[in-house]
Order: sequence, then structure tokens, then C-alpha cells
Amino acid sequence: MKEKIDLHIHTTYSDGAFSPFEIIRMAAKKNIRTISITDHDSINAIEGAIMFGKELGITVIPGLEISTDIEDREVHILGYFIDHNSNELQKYLSFFRDERLHRAKRIVKKLNILGLEITIEDILSKAKHSAVGRPHIANALLEKGICKNYFEAFDKYIGDFAPAYEKKIHVSPLSALKLISDAGGLSFVAHPGKMPEEILKKLIDFGIDGIEVIHPSHNGDMVKYYRGIVNQYCLLESGGSDFHGGKKNDEFNFGKFHVKPTVVSNMRKMLSLD
Ligand code: AMP
Ligand code: ZN
Ligand code: FE
Ligand code: FE
Repeated sequence: MKEKIDLHIHTTYSDGAFSPFEIIRMAAKKNIRTISITDHDSINAIEGAIMFGKELGITVIPGLEISTDIEDREVHILGYFIDHNSNELQKYLSFFRDERLHRAKRIVKKLNILGLEITIEDILSKAKHSAVGRPHIANALLEKGICKNYFEAFDKYIGDFAPAYEKKIHVSPLSALKLISDAGGLSFVAHPGKMPEEILKKLIDFGIDGIEVIHPSHNGDMVKYYRGIVNQYCLLESGGSDFHGGKKNDEFNFGKFHVKPTVVSNMRKMLSLD
């Protein structure tokens, strides 16, 4: 069986269902020999994953997925080969998490004013290690029986135009690109299939290093299309399963979405690592 490479995996350090150790064990079983852990706005899973990966013969490329926004649209930027011990990066990510916590507290205040009995602790128990966001608040509202389902929480309370909505901290793609390159890494547009063409072109103009070509949301034509853009603009390619595990019903994606070894060797060449 051919050895596989999956460069987009989440763990319990963001919104994934499995710990870094479980992910490494599962990767070994599926013969995925190189992975990148790309948690949302967190690099705290990486050190443990690298160490445990060594024991099981799995190479772990340090990565992360930064949430940015451009023209009111959420855009995810992947970073690879970042120095996960970088103080600057750690400082930024903890600032980001603090800002998210303050915002969650503001939302709780609004929910309480609306008469709902919910506390910040209810929400943080859903967020575990990750930066707290509206999905955690929706799940807490659901668990408390305040809402009948996940979407009702957004419609009635925390959606963009709902009464308890609070803006989150704005991170521009440009600052994410700078953060990644200052930490010695390469930046990639995550799942471009979810964004309009103009936004992708803007990210290319900003100096993104590559595009995620292989992703569960991309069909064969899209893969061809994005590979064409990669070639046209002399960019790098990346790809993976965007595996979260658990309730997102993506267990079948694990081991199904992978990239060729040249994808990683091209990244290493670009960074003069070989
Ligand atoms: P946050 O970054 O905390 O503002 O949360 C954004 C996330 O909330 C999005 O990535 C979606 O997963 C979820 N979300 C936002 N609006 C809605 C909505 N109307 N219905 C369902 N999920 C939503
Ligand atoms: Zn996620
Ligand atoms: Fe994403
Ligand atoms: Fe992701």
C-alpha cells in the first residue's frame, strides 16, 4: 500500500474530536506517513504530535489554519513549516484567544439581558482547548434546552443580524501572511472552492505561497481548475482531508484525501530545507 500524505487535520486543540495522539495512531493505521496538524488559530497540539509521531514513524509538519476576514467574508489561511516555538506566533495566538473570550463574554451578557440563563462556563466547557466561537455558544444553548436546534441559536440569538451578535476581532489575510512568513512558514489559501474568484485573486496579489488543491469540498473539475491556477501563477499546491472527526460526519475522509510526495518536497525546496 502506498504511503499517504494528509496536510489538513484538526485536533482537540481546535474543533477536532480526536487528540493529537489519537490522530497519530489513526494515521499509522491508515498508512498516512506524513501529516500536518492544522488547528484553527492554535499550535499547541504540534509539539506532542511531533514527539509521538516519531515513536510511530509518522512525520508531522507543523501547521495551523488562521481565520481571517476580507470584505466581511471568512477566509482561512493555512500555514506550513512554521516555527511552532516562535514567541511572536504564540503571543499573537494568545492575544487572539483572549479577544475571542472577551467577545464571548459580551455575547453572554446580551443573552442574559434577553432573559436566557447561560454562563460563560457553559460555553467554555464546549470550547475545551480551542479559541471560543459562536458554534460553541450555539452548542451550549442547545444543551441547555434554550434552543431546539443548532441553527435556531443563530437565527434567534447569535447570527450576524440577531440581537446578541457581537463582532469579532478583525484579522486581515495580509497580517496572517506576515505572521506565517515571520514564523518561517509558507501560506496557502484553504479550500478556495468556498470563496469567490475575486477573493482568490486578491490573495494571490497579496503574495500567498500556494493553494489547497485537494480538499473534500473540491470535485475533479475543481481540482483541475485550481491546479491550473497554481501553474499559471507559479504557486505551490497543498491538500488534505480537513478532518475534524466526530459529529461532522467526516470519518470517511480520513485517509481518502492525500497529496503526492512532490507537494511536500516542493515546499521544502521553496524554504531551502533540503
Ligand atoms: P465566529 O468565528 O465565532 O463568529 O463563528 C463563525 C462560525 O459560526 C462559522 O464558521 C459557522 O460555522 C458558524 N455560523 C455563523 N453563522 C451561522 C448561521 N447563520 N448558521 C449556522 N452556523 C453559523
Ligand atoms: Zn474546523
Ligand atoms: Fe477551514
Ligand atoms: Fe480546516
